[in-house]
Parts: sequence; C-alpha cells; structure tokens
Amino acid sequence: MSEFDYDLFVIGGGSGGVRAGRVSAALGKKVAIAEEYRFGGTCVIRGCVPKKLYVYASQFPEHFEDSAGYGWTVGETSFDWRTLVANKDREIARLEGLYRKGLENAGAEIFESRAVLDDRHTVRIVSENRTVTARHILIATGGRPNMHEALPGNEYCISSNEAFDLPELPKSIVIAGGGYIAVEFANIFHGLGVETTLIYRGKEILGRFDMDMRRGVHREMERKGIRILCHTISKGIVKRPDGRLEVRLSDDEIIVADQMMLAIGRSPNTEGLGLEAAGVETGPIGEIVVDELSRTNVDNIYAIGDVTNRVQLTPVAIHEAMCFVDTVFRDRPTPPDFDAIATAVFSQPEIGTVGLSEDEAAKRFDELEIYRAEFRPMRHTLSGRQERMIMKLVVDATTRRVVGAHVLGVDAGEMAQLLGIAVKARLTKEDFDGTMAVHPTAAEELVTMYQPSYRLRNGERVE
Ligand code: NDP
Repeated sequence: MSEFDYDLFVIGGGSGGVRAGRVSAALGKKVAIAEEYRFGGTCVIRGCVPKKLYVYASQFPEHFEDSAGYGWTVGETSFDWRTLVANKDREIARLEGLYRKGLENAGAEIFESRAVLDDRHTVRIVSENRTVTARHILIATGGRPNMHEALPGNEYCISSNEAFDLPELPKSIVIAGGGYIAVEFANIFHGLGVETTLIYRGKEILGRFDMDMRRGVHREMERKGIRILCHTISKGIVKRPDGRLEVRLSDDEIIVADQMMLAIGRSPNTEGLGLEAAGVETGPIGEIVVDELSRTNVDNIYAIGDVTNRVQLTPVAIHEAMCFVDTVFRDRPTPPDFDAIATAVFSQPEIGTVGLSEDEAAKRFDELEIYRAEFRPMRHTLSGRQERMIMKLVVDATTRRVVGAHVLGVDAGEMAQLLGIAVKARLTKEDFDGTMAVHPTAAEELVTMYQPSYRLRNGERVE
C-alpha cells in the first residue's frame, strides 16, 4: 500500500488541471482534483469560450448591412442582451458538465472545495476541514484580472469576468489596455451597439504582434467607429450621482461612460495557497517559479498554466499538462515546446499569426524577405465594405525558411492554425510557392506572393 492517499493531487480545475488529472487517472493513477468554483477554468467559464460566442453575436449587425449588396433586405432588427447571456450560460453549463464527466469517467476523485498546501505532501480540503496526502501535487490555479489597485476609483471598474454577465448592456464603455482582451472586448461592445473608447498607454495597440497587423486592426477598428486613444492612461474614475462614471484621462479629458473595464493583464492566483508552508518559490508578480519540466523548487510539486506566467494561453496549459504526465507518470521527461505558437486575436477583423514579427525577425536574421499583400477580400466587393485584408510572410533569405506568417482579416484565426503547421515544420518559401492555390479564397494569397515586397539587411530596409 502506498504511503500517500493519492499519486496525484491537482489544485485547480481549469484547462491544464483537468487535462492532467484526467489523463493521469486514465493511466491508472490514483488522482484527486480540487476546484473551488466551477470546472472549466478561465477559458470555459469566463474567457475564450464565452468571448467567442459574444464575438459571433457582435458580428451580426455588419452581416445585416453587408447583405444589402447581395440583394437582401433585412427587416427591422433588435438585440436582446439577456437572451445572449442566458444562452451563453446554458452552453457553458454543458461544457462544464463535460469537463466533470471526463474526470469522473477516468476515475479521478473530485473535491468541490478550495485546497491549500499544509506541507509538500499534504493538502487541506478547506470545505471539509481535513487533510489528504499525495506523492505528487500539481498546481494549476490560473490567474485573475489585474484590477490596478493604485488607480483611484478602481472599485467602479469591471474586468472581463463581469463583462460577460452585466445585468444590462451599457450604452457606453471605456476599456483600458491594448492587449488581447481589451481589443477583443472593444470590438464586441462596439458590434453590440455600445459607444466604445479604448485607451492604451503605448504607441500602438497589441504590442508583441507584427506592426502591420497592429496598424491594420487599429485602422479598421477606427473605421468602424471605435475611438482609440494611444499614449493615454486613466488617472481616476469618479461615480456620479446618476450612476454613470467620469473617467479622467492623462491629458485631463473626462469621458462620461456607463462602464469602465480594465484589461491590463492578469495576475497569477497564488495567494493563500499555502506555498510558504510547502516551501514553494514564487517570482516577482507572485507566479510559481518552475524549471523546464514545470517542476517547482520542491521536487514533488509541479505547476502549469497561467499560474506560472509563462505563456497565458489555453492550448499552452493543455500542452504543459500532457508534458507533465509524460514526465511524471510515463517516465519520459518532456519539456513543453514553446516554439512557434500560433495564436489569434478575435478582433474584428481578426488577427491570426505564428512565428516572428518582422521586427523580431530583423533582430535575429541578417537578411529577410518580406512578402506582403493588402487587398479588399472578395466578400467585400458586393457588400461595399471598405475593410482590407493583410497577409504577410517573413522569410529568412539565407535558409529560405518562413519564420513568420501573419494574417489580418476574416477567418485569420482559422488560417493561423494551418499556417502553424507549416511554420512549425520549418517549411521554406519554395514549399509555399509549390503549393497549389485554393481558388477563390482569400488564403490563396499566402501561396501566390512570388516576389518579395521588400528586403531587410541587418535590420535595415534595402529595397
Ligand atoms: P495582455 O498582456 O495581452 O495585455 C495587457 C495590456 O495592458 C497591454 O496592452 C499593456 O500595455 C497594458 N497594461 C499593463 N499594465 C498596465 C497599466 N498599469 N496601465 C495601463 N495599461 C497597462 O493582457 P490581457 O489582459 O489582454 O490578456 C491576458 C492574457 O490572456 C494574454 O496575455 C493572452 O495570452 C490571454 N488571452 C488570449 C486570448 C486569445 O488567445 N485570443 C484572448 C484573451 C486573452 P503594454 O503593451 O504597454 O505592456
């Protein structure tokens, strides 16, 4: 008989924790998993999934408008926020059930409770006020929105958590931040008819992405009517007697809005977890410090997902979970592979991207060829919409390898998934050129850009 109650105790029932728990249990390990709120974590409950549903909801007004050019007359339309929220809740409850069932079917034991570490092998099940022991412990407690404690009036602000379930749709909103969440929500709210202002402290939204994508999406968002203020932060928020908010900006402009949303990054959930009792080391923003195998400084305790503040993406947490299982239970030490992660921003239009931006590539390679196409996609010929699509390939001129692929436009997220295979497989520009186009599609542009638009040598544009 084992000296421990469990082979593995997982704290946190999000994408990473559930995957690790389910697969380990399916291998015949004795597994327990604790979740204090709902199974599914940020992605399913208050992140990727509801976000994508709201993106779909917010796109209908443009579809209605665009249909006129194709001969349709759409009658009077109206939108009911509560219907959307209720239908979203139903879908999330369904998904949560699937997560739970997957764990149960694999034989994992579920604790609907907060769990904290008493020592390196002992976990306290808070709701039952008892302890259990485990040989291995996996911390996958995720993160939460940074609510900017130093901002006067921050108690009046919402985060993406609340945005999904507002009792009513605001007439106007100010969103602070220039990352994924700020940009996606600005488009969602605007699409649903909310007067939307985005304020961002830097010079261009969506740092870390290719500059063509950043400028392109900025231009299209402004064209739709979203107000974007760069080099701007909020100095404070005051609630008026009528319940509306006065948002004071760094240039002293005051915007009156119904809601103010903070989307300025996320912080790891590590407070009150008993990390000190177990001797687990944390980093500057509270993240759990791990080695390349996701192991903490305490060798039977591992951490994966947002709580480690490596790459805050659901598929990355799931990949880390699979690597954890290989390392710990299959005797195959496997470091997660963070190279060439394809990703999408569900802005409107979308950004799909994999590999290096032009600027990043210019720092790493002596000579680059940039292939770039900007055009109005076919679907907008009859619709009359002015929205433009941008496609860009960044090629290392020495090896001919495509080191970055970037798309702005309809279905860019879907394209990024497939481009991800090509870039990950280190395919060359000639492999792209030798691939037959699928016609007529927008994506065919990716295999028909035969001449470089320009070249860079030692970081300088040469032609
Ligand atoms: P991001 O890290 O993407 O962006 C944070 C933004 O907030 C940046 O623009 C940053 O500016 C700004 N910021 C940070 N601190 C301050 C401050 N004190 N005052 C003003 N602005 C500030 O975080 P998000 O919150 O948007 O998203 C969190 C994570 O969730 C992302 O990293 C992403 O990995 C994940 N996510 C992924 C999605 C997807 O895959 N589609 C969708 C949503 C989230 P600066 O650029 O100057 O640092």
